[in-house]
Amino acid sequence: MSQQNDGFQTTDEKETDLPDKSIDNIPDAEDNQENQAGTNADDDPKNEPTKDSVPDGSHKHVHEKKDGHEDEYEQICYICRRPESKTGRMIKIPNSITICVDCMQKAFDTMDSVGMDYDSILKNSEFPGLGNINMVDLSNLQESVPQRQKLKKKKEENPKPVVDIKKIPSPHKLKAQLDDYVIGQERAKKVISVAVYNHYKRVATNTMDEIEIEKSNMLMIGPTGSGKTYLVKTLARLLDVPLAMADATSLTEAGYIGDDIESVLSKLLAAADNDVQRAESGIVLIDEIDKIAKKKNTTQRDVSGESVQQGLLKMLEGGEIEVPVGANSKNAMVPLVTMNTKNILFICSGAFPDLEEIIRERLNKQSSMGFVADLKDKYDDDVNILQKVTLEDLRSFGMIPEFIGRLPIVYTLESLNKDMLVRILKEPKNAILKQYQKLLALDEVKLEFDEGALEAIAEKALEKKTGARALRAIIEDFMMDIMYEIPKDENIGKVTITRDYIEKRGGPLIDMRGYLQLEGRV
Ligand code: ADP
Repeated sequence: MSQQNDGFQTTDEKETDLPDKSIDNIPDAEDNQENQAGTNADDDPKNEPTKDSVPDGSHKHVHEKKDGHEDEYEQICYICRRPESKTGRMIKIPNSITICVDCMQKAFDTMDSVGMDYDSILKNSEFPGLGNINMVDLSNLQESVPQRQKLKKKKEENPKPVVDIKKIPSPHKLKAQLDDYVIGQERAKKVISVAVYNHYKRVATNTMDEIEIEKSNMLMIGPTGSGKTYLVKTLARLLDVPLAMADATSLTEAGYIGDDIESVLSKLLAAADNDVQRAESGIVLIDEIDKIAKKKNTTQRDVSGESVQQGLLKMLEGGEIEVPVGANSKNAMVPLVTMNTKNILFICSGAFPDLEEIIRERLNKQSSMGFVADLKDKYDDDVNILQKVTLEDLRSFGMIPEFIGRLPIVYTLESLNKDMLVRILKEPKNAILKQYQKLLALDEVKLEFDEGALEAIAEKALEKKTGARALRAIIEDFMMDIMYEIPKDENIGKVTITRDYIEKRGGPLIDMRGYLQLEGRV
């Protein structure tokens, strides 16, 4: 036991609080290692450099190297899985294992109470039958803590605010930047720009507590493929804040098969590179929120509907939440971290397919009553009826009042019409057509689409009823042939896609490099 103290290093310089007696009871790290060497270490190539580089058997060298590398990340207690920021000082034992003082003390107490004579077991004098005892190589388990479960250390001294008030663009600038990417949806872009601006202004100045302004969490309602996700993604990129996108359909009440509700925060933490401070001012987008509406006429427990809404309440409101790091559910093997959701902006979105019917019914009922009676079917053909949504309609849909109450900003996105689809094809900074043009430009071929072709693509997309999502699939379908055929002939200088080609009634127009125009099928 002469070298045992070499085996232990605390994460800071202070002397350990552990009673001497307890430390004496720990199996000698050296003996332990030797015991394993006969069985595990020999066939584990990872262990070889340790033995070679440190001839005296101490593993300090290798560990120090590792620590230097991982200085940014918190240590996690091997037994209770809590991070260093919660447990306080950690004790390192050989094989890269860190154990918090509490757990170490508990281990000693247990050994004392049981009265085990570890020394004799390991030295194998009184127990000849245990000659080939195999100790579990704990390092195999410890090293298997994936990178995604490691937490970044808190920057204690003078933490720099994650959001700089001077860097938040004002609402009109934000909207102008959004205009470069998102076509139409003018009202949605305006509402989201103002709400996000106000939110981050509060975060940056930390006035959330003093004035107690409600959080500007949002509920975004719009048909599929109308740009809900795209809008939020673009916004998060412009603001340079971490964004997590979660699907409400995968969430269930804790204990049931599915992801725990806190997993949405785990995703945000991962998006912020496991930096809790940065994650705490990020954006969470929970999509398909309409799928967690209260189930009607059910006698069973609604574990993926109403219970999920209940579970989300605390998170939306802002509170301290225990979050599993790098996993979708809390379990004994996953480190937990406490995150405060006060400054996290939650945006819920969904298509709410039957909501239109609920709104229409309400409006028709109102308009057919009393002196102001109107045509009974006045609202039947209203395409943007969703914009007339009220909280009462959302309640009838199955959202619980407490949940809607925590999403004070409700707005809708229009369904995309033909003109908008044509603009989406060519106008955004990263428009699909621009992408193909760039690809062909690398072959020195010019690609053009005439107006008829663009309209034909938009018409086809409208038929699919999946909004702008259908555009890419349609284009990819016919561009495949072009991308295959064009590089065959080096003389081709320009390709013009026409309506006839889209509708499979003819070929694209091909211009040869010598300005000779031919018409033919590629
Ligand atoms: P959803 O409303 O179902 O979340 P998405 O935002 O995922 O739809 O849209 C799918 C794709 O369609 C986006 O990646 C984007 O390229 C395109 N898109 C949808 N709406 C617009 C829009 N208004 N402007 C530009 N592109 C759009």
